[in-house]
Amino acid sequence: MIATLVVLAAVVGLVLVGAVAWREHRHFADAEESRRRDDEMHRRHEDEVVESETRLRLSLDAITQGVVMADDAGNVLYRNSYARQFTEARHGEALVEAAVIELLAEAVRGRAVEREVELFGPPRRCMFVSAMPLVFEGRDYGSVALIDDITEPQRLDAMRRDFVANISHELRTPMGALSLLAETLAGETDPEVVSRLAMRVQAEAIRLSDIMDDLLELSRIESDESSERGPVTVQHVISDALSRLKPIADEKQVSIETVLPAFDLLVKADRRQLTSAVFNLLDNAVKYSDPHRPVRVSAEMTGDCVEVEVRDQGYGIPLRHQKRIFERFYQVDRSRERTDGGVGLGLAIVRHVATNHGGEVRVDSTEGEGSTFTLTLPMSDIPQPVGAKA
Ligand code: ADP
Repeated sequence: MIATLVVLAAVVGLVLVGAVAWREHRHFADAEESRRRDDEMHRRHEDEVVESETRLRLSLDAITQGVVMADDAGNVLYRNSYARQFTEARHGEALVEAAVIELLAEAVRGRAVEREVELFGPPRRCMFVSAMPLVFEGRDYGSVALIDDITEPQRLDAMRRDFVANISHELRTPMGALSLLAETLAGETDPEVVSRLAMRVQAEAIRLSDIMDDLLELSRIESDESSERGPVTVQHVISDALSRLKPIADEKQVSIETVLPAFDLLVKADRRQLTSAVFNLLDNAVKYSDPHRPVRVSAEMTGDCVEVEVRDQGYGIPLRHQKRIFERFYQVDRSRERTDGGVGLGLAIVRHVATNHGGEVRVDSTEGEGSTFTLTLPMSDIPQPVGAKA
């Protein structure tokens, strides 16, 4: 009996010890599992943080604006790649970095600040640096500075201002003349004088309308950069321009010789734009030549290009002006051009048409001897007809 009880107690004891050991083992395993799960979650969270940080860095590096962040003591914590160029900078660009540091420190004190920094280059650049405090739910997170290159917007702005000033100036002159002529006409009784004044009124009105035509043409060509291009025969373009020019050339008694190949010269172009360019070159050749000085227009294939050449034996252009004559409103001799009726937009139109078509225009001129303008256009992929030689 006693032995049985002892055995029973031993069995119970063993069972109890086993149960306790099992419970401890389970507890240990559960703790291990939960730690493993915590570690996994932690790692995943860390991976997510690293991933979104990388994504944020890559995005900030992709923008063409400098971003610099500082802590609430003004110490720089981060720069994107655009902003980094100024820390490695030599010469004037270091001015941008200095402005960034200064403005970040000011912004930390709670004030948004900005400054323009001129870099004299070359090339000359203008940078706009702004900085603002970073505050969220009442807590300060330091400040951020942004760096923008405003050279191009500034240049466009200046061009727009010049353009408006030039137009106003060009329009004011004939308008002033018209008003004066009208006033004189009103008090005039002599039929001969009246008729002479009326002719001058007409001339000024024509001049006004020419200015408007040139302006509209230039603005149309500028906004038509990707207009429909098809195969255009250069000979047809020259012939269209010549018919427009004929009355002007006849009146000035300037003859025009054409030298063109027998086969069609084809270019991929906007026919209207090209006609306008060739017309402007021919119009200038006639306008800036004395009567009876012939003008010659020719076209030929040279390599992968077609070259249209307009040659005159006119006044020529002094070397120092030759680089600038393609600018809008640029005139070599404003007093002479005023009587000749130009406004300085013709060659700007020609150059725009050339670049629109992937080509170029160049001038070769000697004062007192004459000028040759060459418009080069790529032939592109249009098969040239039989008989054409490169
Ligand atoms: P404009 O309307 O004054 O003719 P353009 O832009 O066509 O304007 O030409 C700019 C200037 O270039 C002219 O004012 C003129 O002084 C000069 N120029 C252009 N073509 C010729 C040429 N064939 N011969 C001499 N001067 C020329």
